[in-house]
Amino acid sequence: MPAKKNRVRIPSELAAQVLFAADRACCVCRAKGKPIQIHHIDDDPSNNKFTNLAVLCLDCHDLTQIKGGFGRKLDADQVRLYRDHWIGTVAESRRSSAPEISDLEDRELELRLATSVAEINLEKEDWADLALHYAGIGNVELRDKYTEKAIASGVSDEMHCLLREEQGMPERIPADVIQREIRRLSEGPHASQAQLARLLRTLGRTQDAVRAYVNGIIEDLDDQRPFAAAFYLKEIVQSGLVEGLFIEALKEAREKGDLWWEIRALEELGWHDELRSVVRSRRGEIEEKGDPFQLRVLYRYEGDREAYADVVELIERAQQTVTDEDGTSYTVYRFDSDDDSDA
Ligand SMILES: [Zn+2]
Repeated sequence: MPAKKNRVRIPSELAAQVLFAADRACCVCRAKGKPIQIHHIDDDPSNNKFTNLAVLCLDCHDLTQIKGGFGRKLDADQVRLYRDHWIGTVAESRRSSAPEISDLEDRELELRLATSVAEINLEKEDWADLALHYAGIGNVELRDKYTEKAIASGVSDEMHCLLREEQGMPERIPADVIQREIRRLSEGPHASQAQLARLLRTLGRTQDAVRAYVNGIIEDLDDQRPFAAAFYLKEIVQSGLVEGLFIEALKEAREKGDLWWEIRALEELGWHDELRSVVRSRRGEIEEKGDPFQLRVLYRYEGDREAYADVVELIERAQQTVTDEDGTSYTVYRFDSDDDSDA
């Protein structure tokens, strides 16, 4: 027998990663529920690299040890191939099926659970939970019926807000409830910037919501919670708050009659049809003013290729890099007003 190589324990975090990537199933037979172990593909028990580790059931692991006619029944290259393919399959199925109920069996179970959950809450006369339950399964009529019943019989400020939020009627939350809830989430034992941010977002207070999120994210980074920071950053984007800020900027630009920032906001929002109609309707004004950046947008949206190419060249020629006395570089545009070559 060859000398045993030094076994280095697989760090538990790494082991968890390997098991998660393989969905705790053997990468060769893929059978669920069998006892499994983490196998070192190159047979070196001290080589604890992620790429050298494969989840195998005990049966398949035996195959890596048994010699067949020409060598091992399951050699390292084969295990590597099985492993890479299985990890890819697991990741793909997580991406595609994560939030959905996949098959009929699940749906039947879901229905059975829904009925019994409703019965339990009805027995307990827990109107709030019942309202949330019906909101969850999309029964609007019963959601609204039990929301009113819950609020009439008295609920906490937190539940009050949640129920109206689920209804999509945050405007029906009384001002004093909002005030108390904001105070509760801002200070004291229940303070939570993320919860506060969600409430403010529900109330349509976009800038306040973003501020609360960002404050929370800074706290998370200060306390070394990168997961939480990433999670709430993602939530800012996915909840439409970024779009919300651009919409506020758009409104402001329109109130001030600032065409340039109106165009920029529309560009960032990706509202191309609206942008096209804005620049078209104000073509005269844009051409008269002659701002090359506005002309560039105008010609692009008008599909005027030649004029567009000319103005892009003009901007390119005007671009200069200037360096300050203290070494700071920035870009400036110098359009010569006496240069009439483009007139
Ligand atoms: Zn197996």
